[in-house]
Amino acid sequence: MRRSLLFYPLSLLVVSAYAGFGVFEECFNILDAKESDGGCRDHKARLTTAWKDACDAISAANDAINFMRSAANTETEKPANWAQEQLRINPMSAAMFGSRFDDRGVFDSMTRLSVIDTNLFSLMHACDGSIGKWSIYCTDADWEWLKETREDPEQPGKKISETQSTMCGSGGVWYSKNRVGTESHYREGPPPKKVLGVSSKKGPICGFDKDYMAETDMSLGIITLCKAGLDQVVDIKAQEIYADKKKPFSSQTKSSDLDKTGGMAITLIHEMLHMVGALKDQAIYDDAGNKITQRVTMWNTKTNKYEETNTDVLAYGYANCVDLAKRKPDLAPRNPDSFSFFAIAMYLKDWDWSHGYAQRLA
Ligand SMILES: [Zn+2]
Repeated sequence: MRRSLLFYPLSLLVVSAYAGFGVFEECFNILDAKESDGGCRDHKARLTTAWKDACDAISAANDAINFMRSAANTETEKPANWAQEQLRINPMSAAMFGSRFDDRGVFDSMTRLSVIDTNLFSLMHACDGSIGKWSIYCTDADWEWLKETREDPEQPGKKISETQSTMCGSGGVWYSKNRVGTESHYREGPPPKKVLGVSSKKGPICGFDKDYMAETDMSLGIITLCKAGLDQVVDIKAQEIYADKKKPFSSQTKSSDLDKTGGMAITLIHEMLHMVGALKDQAIYDDAGNKITQRVTMWNTKTNKYEETNTDVLAYGYANCVDLAKRKPDLAPRNPDSFSFFAIAMYLKDWDWSHGYAQRLA
């Protein structure tokens, strides 16, 4: 999960053409080709299920927030299910977004509620197809690294250094002939990383880390799913079986049933927030308020080599989202994964998921 720095123009939010809520093919341009050619044909059935789940979860989250907002605004009578809904919604909103509530159980920060609301609103429009179609690819294995001295496959007789000079900062360019419509066949990026004992034939997105799930290129409107992202479970309701594993509460719980239960829908909601909300993944912090970092090997554009460097650990996964909400509550409603987990929890509404696993509501 990685993002480019360009922001999607928000003016497109007003373009409206209802397509059908959560209908995968109405919301994405899909290359109808086999996986080795970058297409999603082999994954279409599972993606269709996961996208419908993602949109049903987004809708449930939107309903939950709207309920809490309208109930809070009613000075007189509360809806009959007000107390019951508070038990379901408030702890999860606190766990993911750092929400706090007054003694009546009403959100005490309308600013925070508005940020949550705005992002859910954008996601609702992603699901009805009214803010335009993005492209989705199911591998990057069709991309080939061409050194700048190679001939450009699309301009015989000319070298890459001549035809793609502005993209050659790393000594070459990535090339794929299998793209939707008029999308560019060239992509800037560092060369494949050679890993001991493993072939250096790696793509420009998924090839750097086997756990890498997906990338969103906000400037081009493209989501690329990688193997780890595609291998996750789909059909959230069927996964609700995880909810039946009773576990004693522990604040030390580090892996969560919600990560597994949400599966591919979590990834899709996450990537759509990069697209429609222009949200970036937030860093996580230690008790002293410093960013937590990790050592990784990355391409250094100054030395043109792969080198070890420190990068921020980002708030992926349930436990990191809880940490972020505790330590940086103002940043939590701007973190994509926090929305993914909140939405899945609101969709599986018989449970309090605020500890990361299911506790049945009375
Ligand atoms: Zn991300």
